[in-house]
Amino acid sequence: MTQNTAEAGVDAGPGNGSMVVAENVHKSFGRLEVLRGIDLEVTRGEVCCVVGPSGSGKSTFLRCINHLEKISAGRLWVDGELMGYRQRAGKLYELHDAQVARQRRGIGMVFQNFNLFPHMTVLGNVMEAPVRVQRLPRSQARERALELLDRVGLAEKASGYPRQLSGGQQQRVAIARALAMRPELMLFDEPTSALDPELVGEVLDVMKGLAEEGMTMVVVTHEMGFAREVGDTLVFMDEGVVVESGAPRSVLADPQHERTRSFLSKVL
Ligand code: ADP
Ligand code: MG
Repeated sequence: MTQNTAEAGVDAGPGNGSMVVAENVHKSFGRLEVLRGIDLEVTRGEVCCVVGPSGSGKSTFLRCINHLEKISAGRLWVDGELMGYRQRAGKLYELHDAQVARQRRGIGMVFQNFNLFPHMTVLGNVMEAPVRVQRLPRSQARERALELLDRVGLAEKASGYPRQLSGGQQQRVAIARALAMRPELMLFDEPTSALDPELVGEVLDVMKGLAEEGMTMVVVTHEMGFAREVGDTLVFMDEGVVVESGAPRSVLADPQHERTRSFLSKVL
């Protein structure tokens, strides 16, 4: 701990290079222990792909990162901030909802089922958070939204409604909507799993573009091609722990654990 943070009475978090640091993260729902000690570090600009069997805790872990779920034990930092807590002199104090909401603003999340607001236009969906949460003037929010829609190739759909779009288009709008808050970190929970196969590529292309621009991303996916090509790290989770992780090519070509081998033999 440096002198300055000691004086401020706030314990130092992990170093600057890390966007996400999970340290022995546990999560239980009642008696069901879903996360059993996750250790993971995602550095700035890294694309971390997370794979594993259904029920292994991948979605729960993503939800813990942005504090949609409260962890049961361990520590979780995003961008140097302890999520949901303030740590002083070794003790943890829970943050208020408004403080958690502020922490969460720097984190964009994209879900399997798009979750767009059905009664709002595409443009309205993308403008919503900047206007409501950030209090950005509507004209600026509109400009930002149109730029983002252009970037995901949907500028001409701005006045349409989600139901008029294909699944792939809806998911691209959902990505634009998450980006509208200018996040430092993007979380993707099986973003292409609900799509017809011919629509998967257009969503992965947008994600690849984001990665190339240097966005830090944690991507839960079954798309091993994407993991191999775009991922910097591949993390294999099973039964609430990280079984192994490493460069995607080496994990895929030469898995070190029997559980990883068995999983990969089913999905590759
Ligand atoms: P994955 O995304 O890897 O398929 P999940 O994180 O969705 O796994 O779920 C892991 C386990 O946690 C499952 O057994 C699931 O039923 C359980 N679970 C997830 N969310 C809840 C919840 N809110 N309440 C109770 N159990 C839950
Ligand atoms: Mg899941």
